[in-house]
Amino acid sequence: MVGAKIVIVFDFGRTLIAEDNDRWVVENMGLTHLFNQMMEELHSENKTVEQITECLKDVLLHPHTISAIQSTHDLGCDLKVVSDANEFYIETILKHHGLERYFSKVITNPISVDGEGILRIFPYHMASCNLCPPNLCKGLVIEQIQASLSEKGKSRFIYLGDGRGDYFPTLKLNKGDHVMPRKGFPLSNHLLSDPNLLKADSHEWSNGQELESILLQLIEKIYKE
Ligand SMILES: [Mg+2]
Ligand SMILES: [Zn+2]
Repeated sequence: MVGAKIVIVFDFGRTLIAEDNDRWVVENMGLTHLFNQMMEELHSENKTVEQITECLKDVLLHPHTISAIQSTHDLGCDLKVVSDANEFYIETILKHHGLERYFSKVITNPISVDGEGILRIFPYHMASCNLCPPNLCKGLVIEQIQASLSEKGKSRFIYLGDGRGDYFPTLKLNKGDHVMPRKGFPLSNHLLSDPNLLKADSHEWSNGQELESILLQLIEKIYKE
């Protein structure tokens, strides 16, 4: 498709990074409250923000996920992260791997350090949708991205995710878009339970290698359309 812009939207936990640090990302269960509680606890154990940063540098990214990010960016795609984690966590990890510059936007819950040196998380927005966690409705985010792009001409979406919170945004995708659910995880199961609701094409992947090869194939296909 000549002139189409390809937008690649990545979830973060269990998509860009292999695992979720589960206690950091508690899905659908008052994430902000639990996060703040945990930060207070770390603070009471004299753990500093610097120490938490160091700890995050050990989070692994699959080498093929890293090369997928670099090559899709070099092919002219617009890369974004949409995650229910938080900006401190995501930016620390991306920066550590030198990947920050490949993403045009990271849409997630903001963080600030309070007067006592404790990290505080704030909801990205207040959503009233019952499919998503209350602090971030990725469906709404996708709608906003779609609206901002429709003024600029043709675009195609590729959405990669694993979780329940990734289901609603994939239903917002159109014919010609693609969703890449991680195989065996909640998003893939939700999509399989009622495939007719999905307008986009679905392609499962299980590891960084598959993520990279499927992504590159899709881009080649879209550019040829
Ligand atoms: Mg995830
Ligand atoms: Zn929602």
